[in-house]
Amino acid sequence: MTQMDDKKFILDIQDLTIHYVVESGTVHAVENLNLSLGYGENLGFVGETGAGKTTAALGIMRLVPDPPGKVIGGKIIFEGEDLLSKTESQMRAIRGGKISMIFQDPMTSLNPVITVDKQIAEMVLLHNDVTEQQALERAVEMLEMVGIKKERARDFPHQFSGGMKQRVVIAIALACNPALLIADEPTTALDVTIQAQVLELMKELRRKINTSLIMITHDLGIVAEMCDKVAIMYAGKVVEYASTEALFNRPAHPYTEGLFNSIPDLTEDEDELKVIKGLMPDPTDIPSGCSFHPRCPYAVETCSQEVPEMVEIEPGHFVACPVWGKKLLKDSAATEVK
Ligand code: SF4
Repeated sequence: MTQMDDKKFILDIQDLTIHYVVESGTVHAVENLNLSLGYGENLGFVGETGAGKTTAALGIMRLVPDPPGKVIGGKIIFEGEDLLSKTESQMRAIRGGKISMIFQDPMTSLNPVITVDKQIAEMVLLHNDVTEQQALERAVEMLEMVGIKKERARDFPHQFSGGMKQRVVIAIALACNPALLIADEPTTALDVTIQAQVLELMKELRRKINTSLIMITHDLGIVAEMCDKVAIMYAGKVVEYASTEALFNRPAHPYTEGLFNSIPDLTEDEDELKVIKGLMPDPTDIPSGCSFHPRCPYAVETCSQEVPEMVEIEPGHFVACPVWGKKLLKDSAATEVK
């Protein structure tokens, strides 16, 4: 799946493996992750809680807490250079500058005792050769860009609502025109109407700034609205990777199918949601072979023995399921013959 072409991809993750060593054993948070992201492209990282999405994002930012976390191997090529070979001071210059991250809860990113303009200005000063006055001017400009009036620039975070706080966080994240923005469930902590407003704002800013985006979410609806490509993660691995169009029209992995089936269909009068049976596996005790096999309705005997390889079933559409992948190939061949 890795297509090594530094000029074409802003980010090329190769065989990234991250573990946490805890008392109960080793948590295989991310296993052999391979992904690439083009300039200006938007990638959705989808999966249930514990699938490894946030750990992968923290890995890109080099923020995995060590101990207990450890990057076991792989490469994270960003703009042609491996982030894993950077020193901590080089990474400090990259974080917030070339790569920014928005977290789920805005309060984890905001300092409660500093006014919001100063918080944005601090980020600008850290990464640019400007005066304090210029940084404060940029802060006001950013606040206005995210829909906050300049009269509120001297307010403290607690004077804003949840949605407005997340707008401030977005302003901080975009203040230095990052080449890559990682948004980790940026609207989960907000109520539904505000979620829609914040997503709309992110879409509008993305058009203006042309930042590449990794959107971490468990919500396929958000992916449909925001992303060009999708990676479906399960138990630390990507199990399907495709364009949003291909994934929504031709989902090929049984886990992806399960995710789609568990979305409530408001047009049908159904009493029960078709949830995926069973639970995510214990990350210290991942099932052998295909880690989805205990929950998979299509599992055959070999599924518990052989680790499935990623197979390209159509250009740019990769699936880690030999059983289902082969079936799809056969079906499409049969359709072509007809
Ligand atoms: Fe299901 Fe087997 Fe495919 Fe895994 S490899 S998703 S268990 S059919």
